[in-house]
Amino acid sequence: MHLNGPPLIVMAMEAEAAPVRSRLGMEGPGSEIVNGLSSRIWTNDNIYLVTNGNNQRFEVDSIGTLPAAFTTFSAIKAVQPGIVISAGTCGGFIQRGGFIGEPILANRCVFHDRRIPLAGFDAYSFGDFPVAKMDLIAQNLGFRLGTVSTGDALDAQSCDLERMDSVEALAKDMEAAAVGWVCEKLDTPFTALKVTTDLVDGDKPTETEFEENLQYASERLSEAMFALIHELKKSNN
Ligand code: SAH
Repeated sequence: MHLNGPPLIVMAMEAEAAPVRSRLGMEGPGSEIVNGLSSRIWTNDNIYLVTNGNNQRFEVDSIGTLPAAFTTFSAIKAVQPGIVISAGTCGGFIQRGGFIGEPILANRCVFHDRRIPLAGFDAYSFGDFPVAKMDLIAQNLGFRLGTVSTGDALDAQSCDLERMDSVEALAKDMEAAAVGWVCEKLDTPFTALKVTTDLVDGDKPTETEFEENLQYASERLSEAMFALIHELKKSNN
């Protein structure tokens, strides 16, 4: 895979991003990309990482699709990346062989909570954004390739679950498709690397399982990201 610029990693939560930055040798508080947007950017060794930053009014990380799209747009304009990687934690699916701490690379990326049953808008709402071909890289790394499905809720309504089943989603998150949407607009290669914190079709309440496993999954994510960056650099030579 040939890259026409540096990799840009886009992340939502500081707890997920801190171990990844540490593993990639990125230090300090980062810097602002755009005045007024809370996004922050770090760099080391020609790799960039941005987070959506903190929402000052609610004092939490700016998770979800809106901040992800704004951050991705500003960061692409700022660093002209060769590939954008939406990285973070996700819900996995026992029925499709998922387990806590599993890394998943996207080969498809859709929205599961945008339902517009009008001619043309149905497909538009689903998204199905272009995803970089990572078959060989996934094989080398031993990561499963599959559909990453995005929505703006941590829970899943039954109609969302039907959508996710229809595309055999391996990962449910709250940002990837928004990042993919911007990448399609700006003609930038896109992928997503997600690590499972909770099992959507398991018995435990998602928020409990998410909090129990966030630290563990973020550590696994930092290792998976380090390995992915290495493979991307290798295949770019
Ligand atoms: N209470 C948490 C909220 C985290 S929301 C807190 O503020 O600490 C979950 C984040 O992790 C999102 O950024 C999302 O992309 C990802 N995620 C992990 N598991 C998920 C799931 N089951 N469904 C949707 N997103 C999930």
